Amino acid sequence: MLVLIANLGSTSFKYRLYRMDQSGQEVLAKGGFERVSDYAAVIDEALANLQTEGVISSADEIDAVGFKTVLGKDLSGCVIADDICVKALEDFSAVAPAHNPPYANGIRQFAKSLPKARLVALFETAFYQWVPEERATYALPKSWRDIGIRRYGFHGASHKFVAERSAELLGRDDVALSTASLYQNGPAPISGKALRVVSCHLGGSSSVTGIYNGVAIGTSMGFSPQSGLPQNNRVGDLDSGALPYAMKTLGISLEEAERQLTKESGLQGVSGVSNDIRDIHAAIKEGNADAALALSSLIDSIRHWVGAFAWQMGGIDALVFTAGIGENDHAIRKAVCEGLEEFGLVFDQERNLACRAVEGELSSANSKAKIFVIPANEELVLAREVFRKLSHTKN
Ligand code: ADP
Repeated sequence: MLVLIANLGSTSFKYRLYRMDQSGQEVLAKGGFERVSDYAAVIDEALANLQTEGVISSADEIDAVGFKTVLGKDLSGCVIADDICVKALEDFSAVAPAHNPPYANGIRQFAKSLPKARLVALFETAFYQWVPEERATYALPKSWRDIGIRRYGFHGASHKFVAERSAELLGRDDVALSTASLYQNGPAPISGKALRVVSCHLGGSSSVTGIYNGVAIGTSMGFSPQSGLPQNNRVGDLDSGALPYAMKTLGISLEEAERQLTKESGLQGVSGVSNDIRDIHAAIKEGNADAALALSSLIDSIRHWVGAFAWQMGGIDALVFTAGIGENDHAIRKAVCEGLEEFGLVFDQERNLACRAVEGELSSANSKAKIFVIPANEELVLAREVFRKLSHTKN
């Protein structure tokens, strides 16, 4: 089965073409476009490129297209990307304005460009379908909860990859395999000892997720991607009382307050320097105290959530770093892991310094719990789920 994974940003389109079968997968091609204004044109160009490169001889050979959709109103899981799916995305466009409109438009466009292919959406919220109700609930009046305000969680495909790969690295193929059917059948029971993993996806946007036997039991992100850890330019968690207070005191409108919370907050807002952690490190070297505060706030928040999930799970067997910052930033990894020996995590700084953008272990030989870097591979999770879904779904 040929599966095209389409990654749609507000101005970008990236793709990866996989050949999938029961024994595994192969990446046949990848590519992308930046500064996109006409999606129809770039999708057709990508399909034409695949043919001129000799990867496929006709666009009809593509059996399926997979979309990593973020958040749908009253819809989650791994679903056929039909009109109902597009409507669910559009109904929550106001909650995920940077993500939902490009996917709604992209799905419509692919339906036209590849009319024979089957379109499948894996929602980023799907990994959190089994989070206990009490942890997903905000203490709000029923009318608020009835319109869909609850903790959803994001970066599901990335944390799912960590769930599978960390289980493999720990020699727990039973857990890795049990997660295989997660989106179709729900969590499978595990007979052996419980496996407790905390996954830190640290990138342009960041989240920490607790994973028990391959299943998410909670995450730092809540109703919208505007929550949890301080993000690159978004605030992360904020006391709801701060919004009306700032509007009244600063004399700003709701729209302006939203703009500042989503564009001028997070690492950018606190540092006053940049939304990129590399620039923040450089500013700290020059003695910038605001940059130092931005960095230490991020580290503090990561540790807060790691601790919360390790406690909820009764301990931790592996702590994992993934995504741009997690894979590259050895200073943040060291600060997150410092002083945790009592909890069974012994950090090895030499291993840490040697591990850059590759899979690796950061814990020392005598550490009871492991510390890993696992490079993100959301596309693979998506390709596998599309293949599993369509292998079980008739036309
Ligand atoms: P996203 O897809 O959310 O934009 P990524 O996972 O690609 O995120 O991460 C992007 C972030 O990773 C950048 O904003 C940057 O802060 C960080 N990053 C990338 N490379 C490095 C590096 N070599 N050292 C430290 N941070 C890095």
